[in-house]
Amino acid sequence: MSWYSAVSRLLVLLALSAALGAMYGYAREAVIVVLLGWVGFWLYQMRRALLWLNSPDELPPDAYGSWGELFARIYFFHRKSSQEQARLQSSVTYLEDSFAAMRDGVLMVDKQGAIKWLNRAVEPLLGLRYPDDTGQTLTNLVRAPEFNEYFLGRNYANPLQYLSVGEGRSIYLRVDITHFGEGERLLFIRDVSSEVRMEKIRRDFVANVSHELRTPLTVISGYLSTFLENSQELPVRYVKPLEQMDQQAQRMENLLKDLLWLSRIESEKREDEREWVDIRGLLQELRDELDEAYPDTKIVLDIDAEDKVFGDYRQLYSAASNLAINAIKYSANGHPVTLGWTRTKDGRLLLQVRDRGIGIDASHIPRLTERFYRVDDSRNSATGGTGLGLAIVKHVAVAHGASLRIESKLGEGSTFTLEFPKR
Ligand code: ADP
Repeated sequence: MSWYSAVSRLLVLLALSAALGAMYGYAREAVIVVLLGWVGFWLYQMRRALLWLNSPDELPPDAYGSWGELFARIYFFHRKSSQEQARLQSSVTYLEDSFAAMRDGVLMVDKQGAIKWLNRAVEPLLGLRYPDDTGQTLTNLVRAPEFNEYFLGRNYANPLQYLSVGEGRSIYLRVDITHFGEGERLLFIRDVSSEVRMEKIRRDFVANVSHELRTPLTVISGYLSTFLENSQELPVRYVKPLEQMDQQAQRMENLLKDLLWLSRIESEKREDEREWVDIRGLLQELRDELDEAYPDTKIVLDIDAEDKVFGDYRQLYSAASNLAINAIKYSANGHPVTLGWTRTKDGRLLLQVRDRGIGIDASHIPRLTERFYRVDDSRNSATGGTGLGLAIVKHVAVAHGASLRIESKLGEGSTFTLEFPKR
């Protein structure tokens, strides 16, 4: 709008000067003088604009017409962008302040792995200093191989927990990493020593109680067996209660055995007992044992992998055996149970136990590996299970870097798969 009025004003001025000049015979000169004046005026306003733009926070220079409007608009946009910038800056400051106030360590790392920012809490945990360490490569400063391997591995699906050994103290750290922005990473670091200690106390307590209960229980079941062996000498009304006591004592013994085994798998990293385990041989041995213990169930082997797994033979055997015994327990007689050891096209190794038994409703599957979780209590007391079998399997899987997958359809059967990662 104002550009048009400026042009029309110039044209009117030129026409007037040409007319006036023509009256004295100097039309061309008059037009040139007016044009030069016009250009001079624009140059002058441009200079004022440039001078003002050096400090645009000040009020714009006074001007009329199109220049006045131009200054006003520039001033308006500048104010708007300053306000927006201030708003963004205050959000950033607010975020930085909240991260800084967090009790957990927060660390920002750029695409190249250099430190951008960290809060106070990180300093004692990783031995870093802010702002001195900004710009330095994180892995050059943190001297823990587990941390560096995890950080550089770029697979952050699961958090890392490791023992950080520093000057005169050892702490357990938990590290969660999230990608954000363009290749940047945000690290959350937390001292979980007290949680780890509590967990150890709980495990030790369960292990100790189980251990202490074993001796009295052995005595009780020993006497019960002796009584029952000589049941003809007992009054008839005592025989049934004693049989029930004997059954329950057996159940308790199984429970204690499983509890002790579970706490052993959980607490010990029995590296020295690790070896290359021939899973084919393990499944054959298990099949022979099951054939003898459960002659009514047909055990089928489905093996097409020769691969061995680096691990603990007893743990792997107990996992496969728990799965197989469940498959037998929760199937009707005559339904076969398959033990599989196969390799997928992309190199993953699958240890599978398949049955065509009663199956499990989908709603129970996520909780099956919890200790003492039972789909149906009445079913369980009939089968004499301890409710710890799948917890044991899950722990063995974790200890071997494998994952446990459960697929099942009510009334059609179940498939339990231990998936070992590619070598
Ligand atoms: P339990 O000693 O009771 O068998 P587990 O931890 O081994 O304990 O199993 C937990 C529950 O999962 C069992 O109580 C049972 O209800 C269910 N379950 C496990 N395996 C199977 C299976 N193959 N078919 C059907 N249900 C199963």
